[in-house]
Amino acid sequence: MSFGEIKRRGLMLVLSSPSGAGKTTISRQILQSDTNTTMSVSCTTRKKRPGEVVGVDYHFTDEEEFKLMVNRGQFLEHAQVFSNWYGTPREPVEMTLRMGGDVLFDIDWQGTQQLAEKAREDLVSVFILPPSARELERRLIARAQDDKSEIQRRMTKASDEMSHWAEYDYVIINRDITESVARVRSILESERLRRRRQEGLADFVKELQDNL
Ligand code: 5GP
Repeated sequence: MSFGEIKRRGLMLVLSSPSGAGKTTISRQILQSDTNTTMSVSCTTRKKRPGEVVGVDYHFTDEEEFKLMVNRGQFLEHAQVFSNWYGTPREPVEMTLRMGGDVLFDIDWQGTQQLAEKAREDLVSVFILPPSARELERRLIARAQDDKSEIQRRMTKASDEMSHWAEYDYVIINRDITESVARVRSILESERLRRRRQEGLADFVKELQDNL
């Protein structure tokens, strides 16, 4: 894959937020409109929720299998979130980046830190904030897929998650989905133009000079 005619290395676009800030909706809209971006499908030990599709939302595994994958180095990053384990399979991401495709990640701050340590040059991180605490609570309740104690736990955790906003490259306050999606798109467009990602530029410029 290329960007225009210039060979380009793909980028890793991470979207993090407390649950209920609108990250999933934003991700879906980006994926629908951007054919060069694919979603990284994580492995998790948490139970499948109604409506979730195996291999699309997550690869569901048990703890034993998850540990085996950790030991084999099959994850690019992994972390424990809400007492469950989550990890990003390494192989599909590395292959996509090499081919010039961009990969979207819905992972937490721990995973983002690990990606920053391992692959800073490929990483573009975006933190999504809810417009208010009240709105966050409303969205968590409206979602109603989790039980009440789970909702309460996530409200408490939201504050912890939000304390990591300053570790991200970009921060978006999600007041309006359409506006937030447009903002993520413009980040993606600009980051694709970074000189270091346009691997074919040197050859392109050389050809320009040769033809002068
Ligand atoms: P949920 O269980 O609601 O789908 O996700 C809970 C949290 O785990 C979210 O903040 C999500 O971003 C995070 N998460 C999902 N997959 C991964 C992953 O592969 N790695 C890390 N570090 N976090 C993940």
